[in-house]
Amino acid sequence: MNIVPIIDSAMAFEDAVAGTKAPREVIDSLCLVNVQHRTFEGQLHQGQLIIHRGIAKDIIEIFELIEQTEFPLARVIPLVKYKWSDDMSMADNNTSAFNYRVVMGTERLSHHAYGRAVDINPCLNPVIYENGRIDPSGATYIPERPGTLYASHALVKEFIARGWRWGGNFRSSVDYHHFDKPA
Ligand SMILES: [Zn+2]
Repeated sequence: MNIVPIIDSAMAFEDAVAGTKAPREVIDSLCLVNVQHRTFEGQLHQGQLIIHRGIAKDIIEIFELIEQTEFPLARVIPLVKYKWSDDMSMADNNTSAFNYRVVMGTERLSHHAYGRAVDINPCLNPVIYENGRIDPSGATYIPERPGTLYASHALVKEFIARGWRWGGNFRSSVDYHHFDKPA
């Protein structure tokens, strides 16, 4: 039986990168992919991700695994909808990739700036800084909850098997929602 997904995002590429500060050569290296996933209510939804072309195969196959295993995602909507605010996107538990921005607290460009990083369910998989601060604020990390990532989770293993890094393995600030694959 074919189930028609609920459409959360169906933008054209140019609309999904509108207003980004990224230079043209970065924009030209990106692509837009449609993904289908279950929500926490169990419904099938369609979202979109803006990613670097070089990781498109990984992302398409990993999101097929997400759909097949019914790993729940709250929503998958390009950052333009959040006016390029990572804080607003995280607070909405949004799963996302490209955002031309620096690493929080630094002047260094994030792997998200090149579309080479993905953040998954940030409200369930927060960043926990060395000083104890948690982003998004008010989030809690409870590995047993659906949609939560931990080291032995099949999704984490799949990313790592494909050469990605998982923020849950970072030594200083632990970033449970973050995956990246540097060039
Ligand atoms: Zn991230």
